[in-house]
This record gives sequence, C-alpha cells and structure tokens, in this order.
Amino acid sequence: MKLPFHEFCIKTGSLCDECENRIKQGLNSNEELRLSKIFLEMVEKRRSLSDLTLVKALRKGNILVVELGEGDIERIGSDMGELIRSVKGRADTKVLLVESGVPAKTFIRQLSWPNKVLAMNTVWLPDGSRQTKVTLDGRRNPSELRALEEFAKESEGIDIRLEPTTR
Ligand SMILES: [Zn+2]
Repeated sequence: MKLPFHEFCIKTGSLCDECENRIKQGLNSNEELRLSKIFLEMVEKRRSLSDLTLVKALRKGNILVVELGEGDIERIGSDMGELIRSVKGRADTKVLLVESGVPAKTFIRQLSWPNKVLAMNTVWLPDGSRQTKVTLDGRRNPSELRALEEFAKESEGIDIRLEPTTR
C-alpha cells in the first residue's frame, strides 16, 4: 500500500516532522491523513487491497474525489461498497474514485461516473487553449459538474466541459 504518510505515523496519530511538514507545506491534507488511516484499517481485513495507492483526496463541493493508483479501481472490485462507506465522512458527501496515470479518456470516464460518456470532442478556443467537451448521458446536478471540471483542471491540468444530454 502506498500512502502519503508513514504507516507508523498514521497508526499512532502522532506525526513525525516529515509527515507533519507534508501537511504544513500543503503537499498533503488532513483529509488524506484520515483516508490513509481508513485504508490501513481496511487492508488489515482484506489483504487483496495491499497494493492500493492513495495519490490524493480533494473535496469539491459535496464530492470527495479520491485519486488512486492505476488499476486500483479494478483491484478493489467487490470491496468497493465497503471502501466508499468507510471514506464517506460527512452525511452529504458523495465519493468518487479516479485513477492517476491513466490516459485522459479513461480519467474523464472515471470522473463522469455514474454518468456514461457518450462523446468527447476537443475544440480549440480563441485564446489558443484546448477544451474537451464531454457529452454525458442522463442528467446531473450542474454544481457537481462544475466541481468535477475544476478537479480535472487542478489535478490533471485538463480543461473539460461536462454536458449532460438531459437538463
Ligand atoms: Zn512520518
């Protein structure tokens, strides 16, 4: 399991200077520390999860986006429900799992879940930048879509516009 903090520090809850500085310098957050602890507890019950990587976690509106290592979503498999219940935290939080280091199209599909991606079209904007328009099936809360677009920009540096077919 790859976590942003030392296993010892996560388990004891008293951080060494190195881990403490990761939070102070903004490299990692208290949210990520909380999730690291949950991941460690889960792996004690399910050895199959021992290869998971926690890259980062970011709250955007009411969505907690958890970025894992490549292939981790498949690795979690049937333990998904339990993992999501454990990391959920506040009552109104939705948990979304995405993977780091995957092709942009895969990342966008993961980010759009539970909506399905019907089409992706990249357009050039007048200022020379690129934006990918992503057409989703069904409907989705617009503020959630804006939050996910922000996450894509901050996390992967990709400019996307998520547009559901039904409004
Ligand atoms: Zn430490």
